[in-house]
Amino acid sequence: MPNARVLIDGPSELVFDYSFPDELPVRPGCRVRVPLRNRDATGTVLSTAAAEDLGFATRPLHSLIDPEPLLTPELLELARWIAQYYGSSMESVIRSLLPESVRSEEHSAKSQKMVRLLKTPLPDILESLGKKAPKQQLILTRLLRESDHKILLAELGKGASASVKALEKAGLVAVQEEAIRREPDADSQEQVIESQPLALNPEQAQALSVVRDLIDTPGKPLLLLGVTGSGKTEVYLQAARYALDQGKTVLVLVPEISLTPQTVRRFKARFAALIDQVAVLHSHLSQGERFDEWHRIRSGKARIVIGARSAVFAPLPDLGLILVDEEHDNSYKQDTTPRYHGRDVAVLRAHIEKCAVVLGSATPSLETFHHCQEGKYLLQRLNQRADSHSMPLVRVIDMRLEQQKQKNSNTIFSDKLRQALELRLERGEQSILFLNRRGFARSLQCPACGHACQCPHCAIALTYHRTDERLMCHICGYQSIVPRKCPECKDPSIALQGYGTQKVEEVLAKLIPKARVARIDADAMRKKNTLRDMLNAFRSKKIDILIGTQMIAKGLHFPNVTLVGILNADIGLHVPDFRASERTFQLITQVAGRAGRGELEGEVIVQTSTPHAPAIQFARRHDFDGFSEQELEFRREFQFPPYGRCAVLTVRSTHERRAEFTLQTLHRRLLENMPPHMNISEPLPSPLIRSHGQFRFQITLRCPQARPLTNHVQAVLNRTPLPEDVIATFDMDAINFT
Ligand code: ADP
Ligand code: ZN
Repeated sequence: MPNARVLIDGPSELVFDYSFPDELPVRPGCRVRVPLRNRDATGTVLSTAAAEDLGFATRPLHSLIDPEPLLTPELLELARWIAQYYGSSMESVIRSLLPESVRSEEHSAKSQKMVRLLKTPLPDILESLGKKAPKQQLILTRLLRESDHKILLAELGKGASASVKALEKAGLVAVQEEAIRREPDADSQEQVIESQPLALNPEQAQALSVVRDLIDTPGKPLLLLGVTGSGKTEVYLQAARYALDQGKTVLVLVPEISLTPQTVRRFKARFAALIDQVAVLHSHLSQGERFDEWHRIRSGKARIVIGARSAVFAPLPDLGLILVDEEHDNSYKQDTTPRYHGRDVAVLRAHIEKCAVVLGSATPSLETFHHCQEGKYLLQRLNQRADSHSMPLVRVIDMRLEQQKQKNSNTIFSDKLRQALELRLERGEQSILFLNRRGFARSLQCPACGHACQCPHCAIALTYHRTDERLMCHICGYQSIVPRKCPECKDPSIALQGYGTQKVEEVLAKLIPKARVARIDADAMRKKNTLRDMLNAFRSKKIDILIGTQMIAKGLHFPNVTLVGILNADIGLHVPDFRASERTFQLITQVAGRAGRGELEGEVIVQTSTPHAPAIQFARRHDFDGFSEQELEFRREFQFPPYGRCAVLTVRSTHERRAEFTLQTLHRRLLENMPPHMNISEPLPSPLIRSHGQFRFQITLRCPQARPLTNHVQAVLNRTPLPEDVIATFDMDAINFT
């Protein structure tokens, strides 16, 4: 008898072998019921093997839950790669791949009895029935009226079943159990009006032709680098249509569904005639809805899937095209185990499934752009705005001068920005104010000269640790005291900077009392409809000024917005993160793309104390190439990604000393037998030292290659038993250093 290696459901990650009879179609990805010690359990088959390979007797498994494997061989291969690369258990990866509702059996498809007409009855039969059995005649006429000649048994009313039975016997109708879909969008009143393909401009046409070729003959991943408003979405839509026409399916990844409603709407509108074949995977689908959507996708009924990060695992058969919109977006990285990057997994999935993959952005990640430079990815550019509007004017305001002018070291609004806001109010136009507030990491910056304290070895901002009254570098572990005066201009007012959205709203209410202001922040996100309602109110011009963090910078399109203000561009620039500059560049460029998307010209005002920072200057000129050239040079010099891999090992516990001590032990062991060219920081408190009641300490690791790094850390973790209440997490290709 052959054997199956089964991953048991549950947190303990047990893997056991079970035998099964030859005739049972057990394959990798199948769900099975098995005996486990003295109870029954369920699990997923990881692999199968002939009995003699094992050399010991195994218990027989009880039964096969689904005859078809839930996971295709391709998805299983993807799962293995993720487990390997990110150093996470196969169990945790399988959990990500198969939604809970699909794995457990509680949410099986809802089904009801459906009566279907088998053949159109001849008129004389109908007539004779009318005399003998009027009820049967009635049922037949109703079935004839239905466009698909079928109707729910329940709808025929009580007492119909005898008549239906008689009709069934006569071979006129059949009764079948049919699954009914729980419609996720059933309560949305949104009307979808079909949109027609636009005539493409030459750049778009060229890009589309490359994507079509890739759909026909899959090759390298393609980066579509198109300035904001260059019509990338139109290219996606026409490429998707082409893939469908070839009988293939399409997967569309967006950073976050609720923050990119326009992209979803445009796909729905373009494929309105095929709307039954579109599945949108929201994070707030109920378990039942998720179950239904998953099976609709798996069975090939839904042929276009739109979703955020985890949709990369949507079990589409015959995949022809994967689109990753805003590929630079950080929300593609999962911040719990397995800590995979949705974009990178998409690229790998396309490779395994042999399909086309297109990454699109106006501000691609340097990792992706570097792949293009090395010839690993193809590059197509869209340099012109498709809607014939010009790029908005970006003004940079030096807040150091502003502080002097207003004699206030914590000025929020420059005179220019205030005037610009008032002007929009007079003209009946709208404004958006962005507050670039990232995390808890705090840097020290001098308001007088703009100097920010940096690590002399790593050229990234030092983090202020209140408990020790020290500045620390989170890459190498360098520490210094907090200076009394600015090291650059000797001004004693060097201080911690920062204010929140709430404060901005307060000050604005005093500054421009007439304005109708709304604020969007994390609280607004938590409730299901607040964000949507607020955005709708803004769209219908019930709000003049919208204040928000970068989370609203994503895919919004408001034709009446002619002014965008970025209040404190510096805060993002001086976080302890080598991507600080890249993020600031992306934010300003993306945000600038929000202004002037209608008939009216747009203006962007960036307030900063470091007006000459490259991220700000290159963004002002919409110059991605200039920025990437300079930034890549810095990355190369310090061996940061994309010129090497960077990972973070974090240890956390409610017991501070125990967490710290554990990390010190791990650190000592990591220093033994290090792979060549690997760099390890000192163990340090995390910038966010305490979170959810737990103390956090971390080590940053760098290495030219990924595999030796992961293997080394996994090996150390495997032979270092952790105290009971201490948790260690490993984050490969980390993008969050707090
Ligand atoms: P991106 O996704 O690159 O930011 P969009 O796809 O949102 O750009 O396009 C910006 C605007 O230009 C949209 O209003 C879109 O309808 C319009 N547009 C795109 N392609 C064309 C085209 N070929 N002709 C006319 N308008 C276009
Ligand atoms: Zn350093």
